[in-house]
Amino acid sequence: MKFLCIECDRQMGFAERELPGDGTLAAVFTCPACSRSVAMLTNPMETQLVASLGVQIGGRTVPEQPFELTRSTVEGGRADAFADAPAHAGRPVWDEAARERLSRVPSFVRGMVQRIYADYAAERKIAVITTEVMDTARRELGLEGM
Ligand SMILES: [Zn+2]
Repeated sequence: MKFLCIECDRQMGFAERELPGDGTLAAVFTCPACSRSVAMLTNPMETQLVASLGVQIGGRTVPEQPFELTRSTVEGGRADAFADAPAHAGRPVWDEAARERLSRVPSFVRGMVQRIYADYAAERKIAVITTEVMDTARRELGLEGM
């Protein structure tokens, strides 16, 4: 996960991270050029989701928390969850309605959401992701609202 300073077109650096202990996560990123900062706040469910995908924040992995359903269905923590996926054969394709729905997902989580559905479909040998597949995946993965 990276943040770009739009003004400076620079990648923001990780400044500090807080895990207050109630499951919420706060991470601060600062632009090296203009010192503008952004903070990322996640609620406990989102923190668990991020942790379960093995996303490294500030160079360290968020302490693991139980989120067994997603861990098992999304193949557990993967450090490359946010890395650019190489286009490889066997990845499911998105039909038009599914792509349209995906385009309504907020851009800062779209890549993650796209990957969750793609992994879900790939594991089940589903070649084409439709809105019906998305509905089923959301139910099975407990991702209502994504
Ligand atoms: Zn800047």
